Amino acid sequence: MTKSLLQQVMLKGDNRKKVEVHPIDPQGLIKAIENGYVAPRGTKFQTKKTFAPSTIAYSHGECPRYWYIAFDGADFEDNSDAYGVANMTSGTLSHGRIQKAMKDAGILIEDEFKITYPDPPIFGYGDVMINWQGEPLLGEIKTMMNEAFEYRKAAGKPKTGHLIQLLIYMKILKKRNAVFIYENKNNHELLILPVEINDYYVRWVDQAFDWMRDVRKAWVDRTLPKKHYRSNSKICKTCPVQKACASAGEGTIKLNPLEPLDEKLSMV
Ligand code: SF4
Repeated sequence: MTKSLLQQVMLKGDNRKKVEVHPIDPQGLIKAIENGYVAPRGTKFQTKKTFAPSTIAYSHGECPRYWYIAFDGADFEDNSDAYGVANMTSGTLSHGRIQKAMKDAGILIEDEFKITYPDPPIFGYGDVMINWQGEPLLGEIKTMMNEAFEYRKAAGKPKTGHLIQLLIYMKILKKRNAVFIYENKNNHELLILPVEINDYYVRWVDQAFDWMRDVRKAWVDRTLPKKHYRSNSKICKTCPVQKACASAGEGTIKLNPLEPLDEKLSMV
């Protein structure tokens, strides 16, 4: 006979310590999907041929030794967890959705176009070139959670890592103006942050190109840069070539990391 609701509740109360697992095994199903996110990833041997502006703007990208090892070729470890991968994939898919909206609005000139430079060797993809107010306007799309989005909206300026990437593209494409198209991941709200080149940006991006040339020359000359950070530092902990770095030897020359972009001077 079917137990009354009261009886069921009392029964549950008696067995409070037992963890009931539904025969469907919901946690097992979650685990299976999480495994699916990380399955195609892992350690892969890679040889980088060019500087990637999106990497330069992030963590180990400022380390000269990282680029030396990457140009040589090494096992790259991917330490992203399932939700890190889900977050990255979500961002990539959002790009396609926003690019389609721009196309449907009749303002898209091109998307995912190659941006290259010979010396220092640089390769990246521009998100969008749009036709705005009769001129081609370079746009970089970034998506973020509500808290970060609201912070950017209140500050009225982009994240410095994002700006580093865009300034490199602007120098290569000889653009004085560009925009960030920020999207709130929670509700798809948009925020446009215009970027206009100023004297500080010109000086910073010129020295960034000189830095890349110095790093590339160190690799051509076979002079491994010495370590700049402790191996338990935040930067090294997430570096994909940490193992190759540990076994590469002490190094022969001292090269500074890329100069950070000063957030206080990065007014837009
Ligand atoms: S482990 Fe640290 S020092 Fe070594 S390449 Fe990576 S970021 Fe540079």
